[in-house]
Amino acid sequence: MKLTVKKLNLAVFLVLVAATAQAKLNVVATLPDFGAIAEEIGGDKIKVTSIARGTEDQHFVDARPSYVRVLNQADVLIEGGAELEVGWLPPLVNGARNNKILSDAPGHVILSRSIQLLEVPTSPVDRSMGDVHPFGNPHFSVDPANGKIIAARLAETFSQLDATNAAFYQANLQKFNERLDKKLAEWTKLLEPYRGTKVITYHKSLNYFLERFGLELVGTIEPKPGVEPSPSYVNALIPRLKAEGVKLVLIEPFRPRKTPEYVAQAIGAKLVLLPGSVGGNEKVKDYLSLFDYDVEQIGAALKASP
Ligand SMILES: [Zn+2]
Repeated sequence: MKLTVKKLNLAVFLVLVAATAQAKLNVVATLPDFGAIAEEIGGDKIKVTSIARGTEDQHFVDARPSYVRVLNQADVLIEGGAELEVGWLPPLVNGARNNKILSDAPGHVILSRSIQLLEVPTSPVDRSMGDVHPFGNPHFSVDPANGKIIAARLAETFSQLDATNAAFYQANLQKFNERLDKKLAEWTKLLEPYRGTKVITYHKSLNYFLERFGLELVGTIEPKPGVEPSPSYVNALIPRLKAEGVKLVLIEPFRPRKTPEYVAQAIGAKLVLLPGSVGGNEKVKDYLSLFDYDVEQIGAALKASP
């Protein structure tokens, strides 16, 4: 009997040693873009779960209660902040009761704090009016230059929480930056001939992308972020867009199609489905392929355009 207990203890000890040796940082990202960048930096030293899917509206994510358990086990929570996830993340985090990911814990990363946000209101925004961007535009990951800032922030966090692998994370950060810089130069060159082209989007979700590549946003299908258009709004929008000479109507694949199709036809513009996030369609599998795809779509649409 004594021997059995000893053997059992030894077995438990060995399992624990093995578990410690292989313990991966358990990382939860609110959005797939953050998760994809985390994977670039963390490689096989981390386990990544992304809550939102790339085919969802980032403001209105169908966050299943099972994520409470996932967050309970997390070492790191990466969120965008600026109230992007305010409608669905707080109940999950509260339910998870995990000190490692509570505000100001080293494992709680709020990316918007590291980013120069666009469209920060100069006066308080009345949320009763339905605007879901009260602290500025939270869709910053669609600028690849912001992708580098996100990557650096994650490398810093992973290195702090898992110092043994700090050199690994830093090396991955450098590799990621090199690949991204090379790609960014290619994307910029591809879209260079179309600088100043006027476009509209459904939501203000592509502003950082458009600004990076010199496309001009002259309107949105939504009158305000998160507010659906009324017929009178759309009818007033059309002559303005016509007068501006808008060439493209850019919408994410998950947006309602009817109004964008109607507007595109009315103003003689092309409707282009443009994923705004990793996983937005089956071709956009990681962070760099998001831009490979989107840049190619825009380039092809404008090349064929009169
Ligand atoms: Zn938004």
